Amino acid sequence: MKNTLLRSTIVLFLAFMTLSVCKSRAQQKQSMNDTQKQNPYYSRTDIQPLHVKNSEWKKILPPELYRVAREQETERAFIGKYVNTDARGTYYCAVCGNSLFRSDAKFASTCGWPSFFEAMRPNSVIYKEDNSFGMRRIEVECGRCNSHLGHIFDDGPAPTHKRFCMNSVSLDFEPDK
Ligand code: FE
Repeated sequence: MKNTLLRSTIVLFLAFMTLSVCKSRAQQKQSMNDTQKQNPYYSRTDIQPLHVKNSEWKKILPPELYRVAREQETERAFIGKYVNTDARGTYYCAVCGNSLFRSDAKFASTCGWPSFFEAMRPNSVIYKEDNSFGMRRIEVECGRCNSHLGHIFDDGPAPTHKRFCMNSVSLDFEPDK
C-alpha cells in the first residue's frame, strides 16, 4: 500500500514536471518570430555551446543574417534596425537566442551601429583577433554559437571605456514587460 502511494506520487510529480516544461516551451514558441521558429537551435534558456556547421546554418538562417553572422560581413552604417533603439530590454543573439546585452549598457554612439559598453555576462561573448582588411581589430562573437556580432574598440564611455560595435541583424531585441 505504502509502495503504491509512493509510486503514484512519483508518477504525478513527473507528469507535473513534464507539463511545466512543455508549457514554458510552448510560451517561448508563441513569442518567437518565423525565423526563430524555423531554427531548431534557437533557445533563450539553453546555454550549452553549439557546434553547428555553416552548411547547416545556411539552410536555417535568412541570407542577410547568414552573411553577417557566419561570413563576417558588416552591415552598412546607420541602416540597422537597432541603431537608435533606446527602449529598456535585452538583446539576444539572432542566431541562437543567447542573451548578449542589456539596454542599460547601450549608448548613443555616432558610429552608425548599435553600441554597448559591456556584455550582459562574462561568457555572453568571446573575442578573437581579426586581421582582415589590413586592420588589427578584435572581433566579438556569440559565446554560445560563435556567430559574428561585430567588433570591440577602446573608445567607449565610462565605466568600461569599451565600445561593442554590433551589427543589428545579429541581434534580437526583446523589450521588458
Ligand atoms: Fe549565438
